[in-house]
Amino acid sequence: MQTLKYKIRKNDQVMVLKGKERGKTGKVIRLIPDKAMVVIEKLNIAKQHTRPSAKNRQGGIIEKENPLSISNVMLICEKCKGPVKVAKKYLDNGKKVRFCKKCGEVLDR
Ligand SMILES: [Zn+2]
Repeated sequence: MQTLKYKIRKNDQVMVLKGKERGKTGKVIRLIPDKAMVVIEKLNIAKQHTRPSAKNRQGGIIEKENPLSISNVMLICEKCKGPVKVAKKYLDNGKKVRFCKKCGEVLDR
């Protein structure tokens, strides 16, 4: 099993703590573990101008999510309704899960 260095995973609901998207929430659509970055759906959008190509004959503007530093986002606990610190524990069946340090809610389904 792969050891996960980061507590954030794909499809997690997170809140951005720093930068221009501070306070906004979104879903993690991609993890870039090598760079410690995450891409969050519809956040940190950058507009890219593209030249006409075989695929896109007109060219134009593409909106693309830019990665954010993983240290600037925090996992959201559905029970606490806010960003929380996360810890890991083993369940009775040996499964490793993440849980909310505040209310104890298991955050992995
Ligand atoms: Zn909680």
